[in-house]
Formats: sequence, structure tokens, C-alpha cells
Amino acid sequence: MKKKTFQLAAQVFVIIFVFLLSACNPQKEMVTDSTYMLGTYLQLSLWTEDKAEGMAVIQECFQRIRQIEQKMSVNIEDSEVNEINRHAGKEYVAVSDDTMAVIRKGFAYAELTDGAFDPAIGRLVKLWGIGTERERVPKPEEIQEALKYVDYRGIKFQDENKVKLDIDGMQLDLGGIAKGYAADAVTKIIREKGIKHAIINLGGNVVALGKKADGAPWKIGIQDPFEPTGTHMGVIEVADQTVVTSGNYERYFIRDGKRYHHIIDPKTGYPSENGVISATIITDSSIDADALSTSVYVLGLEKGMNLIESMEGVECIIITEEKKVFLSSGLKGRLKITNDGFQIVD
Ligand code: AMP
Ligand code: MG
Repeated sequence: MKKKTFQLAAQVFVIIFVFLLSACNPQKEMVTDSTYMLGTYLQLSLWTEDKAEGMAVIQECFQRIRQIEQKMSVNIEDSEVNEINRHAGKEYVAVSDDTMAVIRKGFAYAELTDGAFDPAIGRLVKLWGIGTERERVPKPEEIQEALKYVDYRGIKFQDENKVKLDIDGMQLDLGGIAKGYAADAVTKIIREKGIKHAIINLGGNVVALGKKADGAPWKIGIQDPFEPTGTHMGVIEVADQTVVTSGNYERYFIRDGKRYHHIIDPKTGYPSENGVISATIITDSSIDADALSTSVYVLGLEKGMNLIESMEGVECIIITEEKKVFLSSGLKGRLKITNDGFQIVD
């Protein structure tokens, strides 16, 4: 009798235990959706028990990105950034906290990189028109003229939320940093909904939220700069971090056999050419990673790597045109090369 009671108790215990386990770990499924905004392809994937709720979260995220785009895009006539540009040399313009945060961050990175990153690059971006119907190689005198208006030191701040460009003709362009801000904003929404596993990909600005639903780290592919989008040259494992790449393959045109891409060196006025063709930053905040990927691209291998090594919690992968791959000290041994044409240099 005693034995039977024990067996029964053991069975009940096992059933309760299994039930508790399944309650702790309900089946999570992936919901995903994509759209086109911020001049690029965006894809959000979440793992959740409630697919309908997951879908609603994704739509809320897309709305938030649209709101950021409305404020910061130079391609939207009545954006706040265009409002600032229209008032250049004239008066201060009051802007939202979103836009203010991005301009301040861009300004800070301009100071940190001695102007290699410059949010006042707008005149040059417009002149080259890369990725638009107007794209062309400008005449040297046009470049010299535009360069007179590219200098972040002409961005002036007043009170909490007012900005002014010092010279009539100066133009802000937040294209090198706004995607990172949007990625952080979306990450915040997803976290607040209690979602633990997500991949946010805003045109190569990736945030890997948490770990995979099975507890393993995410594997993020690093784009092969010589191959179509989606082809990787290597893979890195991350959890709860952002991986942001700036590359010469994102937006460019070819004239007389020469590639003209969208990352401009504010010192020369021409697309940055120093041997670097791709710079990837791995860190916690996507806005920082975005500003830094553009910065490192323009700074080049030596200065770029020195900058990253001087920063706590920031790592980078730099690829040169000879397919050499340079890793910051915290990444050694962590990038798995999947294409033997690339070679890690120690
Ligand atoms: P990303 O792809 O993040 O490297 O950003 C490239 C975009 O940033 C370009 O399309 C321009 O809108 C803008 N941009 C280009 N050159 C610079 C620069 N030197 N500093 C800041 N923004 C830049
Ligand atoms: Mg960037």
C-alpha cells in the first residue's frame, strides 16, 4: 500500500514537473514582416507565443520608424531636418526630442572624429546624388564650392531643442546615423512588450535582441562586399548586441569603370577611398554603431582601428579592397570566415 502511494505521488510529481516546465517554456513561434523605409529594406522578426500580438508589435515598430523618417529624412519636403536646412544662416528652428537627440549625437561624433563623420555633409550628398536619378560625377569646382558649406562646427544649439546652421547654404544630412536611432527606438518598443528574442534589420543595421529562443547566440552574417546583398563572407555570434556595417556596395554608381559610392570624405568631397571597403561595428547601442561604422570607413584602417580600440565595449571588423580582414582585439577568434577568399590579418 505504501509502495502504491509512493508510486502515485511520484507520478503526480512528474506530471506537475512536466507541466511546470512547459508553462515556463511555452512554444515560441517566429513572426516576421518587412517593408521599405529610410531608403532601404527593413525586416523585423520576433519570437512570441502570441502571433497576433507579435504582428501588432511589428506594425507599431514600423509606425515608429515612419515617424522618425518623417522628422529626419532630407527626401521628405516638410521634415524637421529640411526645416533646419531652409532656415540655414537665418534663424533657430525648434525640433522634436527625436531629431535633437540624433543631431547632438552626430555632432558629438563629428567632434570625436575631427570631422570624418559630419552631419553637415548635406551639400555634398545632394551634389553627388548617389542612389538618385541625379547621380553624376561633379566638376572639381562644384566640389570645392560645396565643401565651403560642410563643417559641423557651424551647427549651433540653443535651449533644449533649437538648432541653427550658421551659414546660408549649409545642409544637414542624418543618413549616416538615423537608421541606428530607429533601430534603438524599435528595440525599446519590443523590449517593453516583454519580447525576449528578436532580430531587427534596418538595411544592414542589425540588432540581435536577447538570444535565440533555444538559448543559443544569434549568428549574424557579415556581407561580402563583392557579392549581392545576402551573401556573407563570415559569421559572428552575438547576443543582445547590434551589428552595423557601412560598405561601398550599399549605394553607388559606376562611371568609366570607377565606383562612386555614398560615403563621402568631408576633407576631399569625394567618396572615401583609403583601401577600406567595409566597416562593421559591434556594440550595445545602434546609434553609436551607425555613426561609428561611417566614421571608421572614412578614417581608414589605422585611425579607425585606433578609435575603436580606445572605446570601451565597442568592437569592429574592417575589410580592405585586397580582401584582408582586420579585427579589433575583443573580436579575435570570434569571426568565422565562410569565404576563403578573405583572410584575417593578425
Ligand atoms: P552609412 O551607410 O551609415 O555609412 O551612411 C551613409 C550615409 O550617410 C550617406 O548616404 C549619407 O547620407 C551620409 N554620409 C555620407 N558621408 C558621410 C560622412 N562623412 N559623415 C556623415 N554622414 C555621411
Ligand atoms: Mg552609419
